[in-house]
Amino acid sequence: MRLRQLEIALQGLAGFSGPRAALEQYTTPAPLAARLLFLAAGHGDLEGRSVLDLGAGTGVLACGTALLGAVGVTGVEVDPAALEVARTNASRLGVEVEWVEGDVADLPAPVRDRSFDTVVMNPPFGAQVRHADRPFVDAALARGRIVYGIFNRGSLPFVTSYVGDRGECTEAVAAELVLPRSMRHHTKDRVAIPVECVRLRSRVA
Ligand code: SAH
Repeated sequence: MRLRQLEIALQGLAGFSGPRAALEQYTTPAPLAARLLFLAAGHGDLEGRSVLDLGAGTGVLACGTALLGAVGVTGVEVDPAALEVARTNASRLGVEVEWVEGDVADLPAPVRDRSFDTVVMNPPFGAQVRHADRPFVDAALARGRIVYGIFNRGSLPFVTSYVGDRGECTEAVAAELVLPRSMRHHTKDRVAIPVECVRLRSRVA
C-alpha cells in the first residue's frame, strides 16, 4: 500500500462523536497518521509484527498498522464511546484489531503481561493535564521493543530525559498536526501544531 492510498483509507474513517477535552481527544489527521505509520513501515516495524496502540481513540493508528501488515494488533483506550467508533472503523476497513477498554496507567490483564514488537501512540500532549503523556511513555517502553509516538515539537529533550536509561531515541521527524476546530476553547478554524514523530528503542521491554 502506498502512502497516498493509506491516507485516503484513513481519511474516510469516523471521528469522535463528542470529543472530551480533558482526555485531549482528537483524531490524528490522516496525513500525519500515514506519516508516522510509514516511518514505522520503513524500519520494518509493522509488517508481520505485533502492535499495541496506546490511547487508540477511534482507532486510526491501530487500523493503519493492520492495513500495513501488522498482525495481532491491540488498541487500548479508556473511553468506551471512542472504542465503539474504533470497532466500526475496523470493520469498515476489514481489519482485525483487538480493542481493550482500559487505562494506560494501569493496563488490564491480557495487555499488562504481554510484550509487543511495536507500540504506536499519539498521547495527550499534557495541554489539559500536566504530564498526561508520562503514563503513555512508561507503558510504551514497558510493553514494546520499538515505540513510535507523536509529541509536541521541542519537547524531545524532555521526552528523552524522562525516558532516561529505559530507552533511546533513534529518530525524530518534524511534522505538522493540522486540526479543524473541534472544541469550544479553540478560537481559530484551523490550527497547525508543530510536532515530531519519534522512534524510541526500549531497553526494558
Ligand atoms: N490514537 C488516536 C487518539 C489520539 S487522542 C488517534 O491517533 O486518533 C488521545 C487518546 O488517548 C484519546 O482517545 C483519549 O481518550 C485517550 N486517553 C487519554 N488518557 C488515557 C489513559 N490514561 N488511558 C487510556 N487512554 C487514554
